[in-house]
Amino acid sequence: MISELQEVVMNKPKVNEPQPLLAIEDLHVWYELRRFGFGHAGYVKAVDGVSFELAEGETVAVVGESGCGKSSLMKTILGLNTPTSGDVIFDSENLSSLNGDDLRQYRFKVGYVQQDPYGALPPFMNVQKILEEPLIISGMKNKKERLERIHKVMGEVKLHPVDDFLQKFPHMLSGGQQQRIVIARAMLREPKLIVADEPVSMLDASVRVEILKLMRMLQESHGLSVIYITHDLSTVKYFSARIFVMYAGNLIEKADTRRLLDNPLHPYSLALLAATSDPDARNADSFKEVPPGEPPSLVNPPKGCHFHPRCARAIAGLCDEKSPPEFEPEPEHFVACWLYE
Ligand code: SF4
Repeated sequence: MISELQEVVMNKPKVNEPQPLLAIEDLHVWYELRRFGFGHAGYVKAVDGVSFELAEGETVAVVGESGCGKSSLMKTILGLNTPTSGDVIFDSENLSSLNGDDLRQYRFKVGYVQQDPYGALPPFMNVQKILEEPLIISGMKNKKERLERIHKVMGEVKLHPVDDFLQKFPHMLSGGQQQRIVIARAMLREPKLIVADEPVSMLDASVRVEILKLMRMLQESHGLSVIYITHDLSTVKYFSARIFVMYAGNLIEKADTRRLLDNPLHPYSLALLAATSDPDARNADSFKEVPPGEPPSLVNPPKGCHFHPRCARAIAGLCDEKSPPEFEPEPEHFVACWLYE
């Protein structure tokens, strides 16, 4: 089942001359730290100079360990965080110029699939109420129209018979069914972009593939752009056309999925690949490259390359002094590492 889905993704033709739907330009998201009685105590630099573009209909995965800043990046794209500096441009509009009604309209164009489906669904509402609420908020006053829309998305996420499911409460559903409701809710207002935050990490392995297949099917049938946030490289290859590897608030490697998995360049990407449960024998040798240590503090990250204390290939006097810029050692494969200067 997995190889069938992988085949579809890997052989999918590239979008011709993609028009950026989303442009992230030199984005910084810093949170001020304040200590009681002492005032300002520094900044948590959760996102620290991220740039990328996403075409209409394109899928990218942002991969990294907990605490690397991917959640802050996601929340900023969703309009829930205000950038410290830099821009989020969606459909040619800068998010910083939107407020009130415009910001609400923007949020209708971006669907959000949460990591924990049970926590994402209000426990005291049945499925019909859960799905009607966002439609009412978005101004759909006609109940018949709302129910038609709900039946359509429930059919798309394959929850049948629809009328039975509409009367159920979240605790009466399996984890996979709950996640289908979360996806249905994200699809209700016909978004152009879906941001999926670890959407399968809390599900059983068998259900994970089904949910990824469902998301893939919806992405293709609606021409959706998707940002798939995950720590798990083993699921990325079944879903995303490009991979961005994130470390300590920066994207340190960006490439097509096949290119990055076949030829990871950054020592951290190698370590992440080695740490996946991927049974691919080609990755077995890189187990010995898993670096010791933890991700750095985002308040006081190490000087120079933030990865240098964990990197077996660090160059003394360079990596611990100067932050590496982005190099392009092969076409469309970008890496922030002095080894590729
Ligand atoms: Fe390792 Fe230096 Fe590359 Fe950083 S820049 S990943 S420390 S070799």
